[in-house]
Amino acid sequence: MVSRVIPVEAFDLVIFGGTGDLARRKILPGLYRRFYDGQMPEDARIIGAARSEMDEAGFRQFVKEALKEFVSKRYDEEKVATFLEHLTYVSVDAMGTDGWKDLAKVMRKDVVRAFYFSVGPSLFGEIAERLHKYKIADDDSRIVVEKPFGNNLETARALNRTLAEHFHETQIYRIDHYLGKETVQNLMAVRFANMLFEPLWNAQYVDHIQITVAETVGVGGRGGYYDKSGAMRDMVQNHLMQLLCLTAMEPPSKFEPDAVRDEKLKVIRALQPVEPGDIVRGQYKSQKESYIDDVENPRSITESYIALKVEIANWRWNGTPFYLRTGKRMKERVSEIVVRFKEPPHSIFEEDTGQTANELTIRLQPNEGMDLTVTIKEPGPGGMRLIDVPLDMTFAEALGEEAADVPDAYERLIMDVIRGNQTLFMRGDEVEAAWAWTDPLIEAWESREERPHAYEPGSIGPEEALILMHRDGRRWRELRS
Ligand code: NAP
Repeated sequence: MVSRVIPVEAFDLVIFGGTGDLARRKILPGLYRRFYDGQMPEDARIIGAARSEMDEAGFRQFVKEALKEFVSKRYDEEKVATFLEHLTYVSVDAMGTDGWKDLAKVMRKDVVRAFYFSVGPSLFGEIAERLHKYKIADDDSRIVVEKPFGNNLETARALNRTLAEHFHETQIYRIDHYLGKETVQNLMAVRFANMLFEPLWNAQYVDHIQITVAETVGVGGRGGYYDKSGAMRDMVQNHLMQLLCLTAMEPPSKFEPDAVRDEKLKVIRALQPVEPGDIVRGQYKSQKESYIDDVENPRSITESYIALKVEIANWRWNGTPFYLRTGKRMKERVSEIVVRFKEPPHSIFEEDTGQTANELTIRLQPNEGMDLTVTIKEPGPGGMRLIDVPLDMTFAEALGEEAADVPDAYERLIMDVIRGNQTLFMRGDEVEAAWAWTDPLIEAWESREERPHAYEPGSIGPEEALILMHRDGRRWRELRS
């Protein structure tokens, strides 16, 4: 049932930050899995690049260790050994002159050249400039830029301008790994390849939409970075915004990069400013564990949780709010989109029969899949009692074991880079529009020096976020994995 694996063209992929955490946990294991499945051609090469002095053998050993740790089922000694033959390493300083000529020598001319910027954002511009200066990149090369893409509109614009000095927009792949998730793409398939949902996908039939990205982990070792960012910048401006766009956008005329991205941009531009009363910010806090200790800043007023009520001012969504929430140290690790339909305009059944509204849940993690609650008659002779039953479409159950083993978001997106397909990457104007909406909200609470509400680690978030829904006569879907 899983679609055929078609090898991509030959490529040289340079991973700047090839010795870093992201490369070790996601990029390199992802590339191995693509190799294992036969998608990486014979003459593909992966070139690790970082300042550390390391030879090819050292890098291969480093990657082997990473694969042992992060590739579970498909770890196979023989395959790993062949995969490692595709790898080499060049020591390069992104801020200086060391190593660039060596890198230029290693690169081949007749293959796709891609450069993954898996380094801190302050190096993005430096690398772009040097790729150009040392003539390592040409007009066909692609660059992959990790998040965060700026910290506000001004810095995002500056970064867009710097990249644009050396690369065309068609060469820039701004990665948001949420877009590489199977279910996110399935959201587009469900909406635009079926007659069933799209006619109902509007304010007339949809009561509200909830988008949740809840994490059980705290800020971990990223405290320093996170405290300058917070949930709004780290999660809402990019991941939740992308989910909102795909849920709310009009059907593009074609499943093509600019057609899809034009529609997403229209959604962002139609977002209304959010009133302070429609935003709840939180910070996890208990005797044993608290955000301020994790970030080592006792005075921090950065949010580790945020919930917002968002309105989209267009014909389709006028009057249907989108409730977004995301947080760290929550009860469950869940990412999902819930479309809550309206109740039928008139019930022919008695009031207490148990009739409720339909709900379509698109689950990104865990157990990627969808379910739709449908109201039916409770079986048995007890008269007309109604119950909700889920029509469950967990991929693993519906399509078999093999289908559950779909490529991880990163590996899918890297293959899209090699194929030259930008559909699942953010365009520069999209990122800027997202910051233009986010910035005033952040500035407003920063200027008020507003303190976030405390919430218990391992909970569902601050009480005030429940009230945000309750006062509208609605409630969050229970957090369950
Ligand atoms: P990291 O573990 O700190 O790794 C940074 C990498 O950059 C290392 O390989 C480092 O190697 C290299 N580096 C640093 N300075 C350099 C220089 N001047 N020239 C060349 N290489 C240099 O960071 P990371 O967690 O992998 O994150 C990389 C990027 O991905 C960041 O933009 C981050 O925001 C983003 N990101 C990471 C994650 C994640 O889960 N880790 C998730 C989403 C986004 P040397 O010290 O040897 O030079």
